[in-house]
Amino acid sequence: MERYVHLDCGICGERLYTDLCEFLQSEGSQPHIEAEVYTSQEPDILANLADVGVTGKGHSFNCSRNCHRNRWLIDAGTGVVDRKGYKYAIACGRAFVRIVDVPKVAVVMTVVMRPVSGSSATLLFSLASGDFMAPIMVEDLHKVSWGEVVMQCRAGHDLKPDTVLKFVQEDGTLLGKDHLDQTIAEIFRFHVSS
Ligand SMILES: [Zn+2]
Repeated sequence: MERYVHLDCGICGERLYTDLCEFLQSEGSQPHIEAEVYTSQEPDILANLADVGVTGKGHSFNCSRNCHRNRWLIDAGTGVVDRKGYKYAIACGRAFVRIVDVPKVAVVMTVVMRPVSGSSATLLFSLASGDFMAPIMVEDLHKVSWGEVVMQCRAGHDLKPDTVLKFVQEDGTLLGKDHLDQTIAEIFRFHVSS
């Protein structure tokens, strides 16, 4: 089963990452760090974090209160920390970033778009078991965003709040955070032929 964690500032408790799933955890590379977490996923709100500016701008971050002001919690390329090929290396332990395990159930759905007429479409959701969930009608696939569909999908399927929904397209493309602002037409590369 996939592991999900929240990452919090060890001093003030501010949440730096919510429901992080794609990461690698290993022992700390320095004696004062208990563990290190590596991920390429951006923190919840990178713009809110304090930029410590160890080696110039944008490579070393603390929580927004800058609790660890003489050190930095999140390394995004200072050159000091080996990030093992990931974008971010996060210093963990009681005094640094706290790792909070989150019990989660992941449900993976394959989503298919079927144009109906004009600009409307139906989105079909199927589970690995072969079962279909209730389809969602989209009035105008050039206006409705994928994020709106995800919200409707959550509301319509009566899921437990800690259920993680994952959507993949038929070709295996995972629809992640980056797709939420895109329209259905953009995601499914749908062009109206004139
Ligand atoms: Zn803090």
